[in-house]
Amino acid sequence: MRHYQAFINGEWVDAVSGARFESEDPFTGKVWATLPRCGEEDVDRAVKAARAALEHGSWAEMHPTARGALLRKFGDLIARDADRLALTEVRDNGKLWAEMRGQCGYLPQWFYYFGGLADKIEGAVLPIDKPDMFTYTRHEPVGVVAAITPWNSPLLLLTWKLAPALAAGCTLVIKPSEFTSASTLELMKLVEEAGFPPGVINVVTGFGADCGAALTSHPGVDKIAFTGGEASGRLIAKGAADTFKRLTLELGGKSAQVIFEDANLENAVKGVVSGIFAATGQTCIAGSRVIIHESLHDAFVEQFTAMAKQARMGDPLDPDTQVGPVTTRPQFARILDCIGLAKSGGAKLVMGGTRATRPECGDGWFIEPTVFTNVTNEMEIAQTEVFGPVLSIITFREEEDAWAMANDTPYGLAAGVWTQDQGRMFRAAKKLRAGMIWTNCYRTVSYMSPFGGFKNSGQGRESGQAAIHEYLETKAVWIDYGTGPANPFVLR
Ligand code: NAD
Repeated sequence: MRHYQAFINGEWVDAVSGARFESEDPFTGKVWATLPRCGEEDVDRAVKAARAALEHGSWAEMHPTARGALLRKFGDLIARDADRLALTEVRDNGKLWAEMRGQCGYLPQWFYYFGGLADKIEGAVLPIDKPDMFTYTRHEPVGVVAAITPWNSPLLLLTWKLAPALAAGCTLVIKPSEFTSASTLELMKLVEEAGFPPGVINVVTGFGADCGAALTSHPGVDKIAFTGGEASGRLIAKGAADTFKRLTLELGGKSAQVIFEDANLENAVKGVVSGIFAATGQTCIAGSRVIIHESLHDAFVEQFTAMAKQARMGDPLDPDTQVGPVTTRPQFARILDCIGLAKSGGAKLVMGGTRATRPECGDGWFIEPTVFTNVTNEMEIAQTEVFGPVLSIITFREEEDAWAMANDTPYGLAAGVWTQDQGRMFRAAKKLRAGMIWTNCYRTVSYMSPFGGFKNSGQGRESGQAAIHEYLETKAVWIDYGTGPANPFVLR
């Protein structure tokens, strides 16, 4: 049993109230760690520490080149400890060791990339249309950032916020998901070792309604960077309006995988498997709606179910496991509810649809990979984000209908397109209203490429050069080197 502490102002601390909560291992269903249940007072301490570090002391005065070097050092430490971090993710989250090793080993790239950008935040001298005026822009850190992360990919999604925010010179208070806080606290050991000044990065652990809400409504927070569900995102956005906090929201999705009659079927089958069964479907970019040309439907279902039936389920630590448990108890129940909803809505179950009772799944929260055909885009199962290994298959005849159906949900996070027709590839990029368009591939991310959604999938982008501007304010500076205002009563 592990007992974690929160990380505030460079110190490991319990909640002021002394309260704690438990974290369960999704593979065994048993409690494996306890964490401080932080509340308003703890959040207030953390925000004050972050503000002090922003405004005074070595971080505030650090040259951006030194800041970049510190980020790269931090990246090196993560690379050194990637396996240890990955193990914690597997234990706390149920994610596959096979995936987490690679994912944790990839995190340093964000710190190297944004570390490199830290001293390239350039303003501009404007060729202004006023005589004897020197006008330029400066970009300054937006301030104290509240970083709120979900349970499905704790360290990756935190890194997408942490690296650009630090490169911009911000300070942070992080609130990881109550279901998976351990890896974020493990990462703080490396924050200490790297030598970040106290208060630059703080972590409070606890529940959304008290700890999270206290953080997002705190007047000392300038910006909220949130990844999570749509309902929480909406609540947070409303709360942020009171103090006009800056906001980045990465929310859910109901992403389409559009398969045309000329697609390479074998690749499309693999691409759809990776979009819906990898990470047990618990990804915001899950390709949960296949929209397939009617001529390919039967062949696709046959090949897809054949491959899905062979997927190995079981211990996420076993490097051969391909589908792990669902991360949280409530999510497990929700997926089964969604399956019920699909059945009662008229969809035809062709595979799975139940809790997995294979011996290798033990007492874990496993769901059999599930496939529904005869789905129409209006059905609830085609519109609701399941966040689990549940695929809906819909058919189309004309290209225009495929684009229309793909766009016809409240979300717009990602879309997959499978075709050999080059004209269609470019039409897809234009027609689909989603932040990431993957053609003949799926579920690829990079520190270099923007990530984020249209419509209810959120606002703002993470990763890529532009992401650093989500953590900067722009100031316009005017210097009159002429004779001063001619007529003070009119706009100059
Ligand atoms: P969630 O919204 O329940 O929780 C996310 C985080 O917000 C947690 O840390 C939680 O404690 C906190 N929170 C909840 N209510 C809050 C409140 N009122 N004030 C402040 N903080 C609050 O989401 P989840 O169940 O942890 O994650 C799953 C969801 O995240 C899915 O809907 C998924 O689509 C989405 N997601 C989106 C992306 C993306 O990049 N677009 C990535 C991963 C997950």
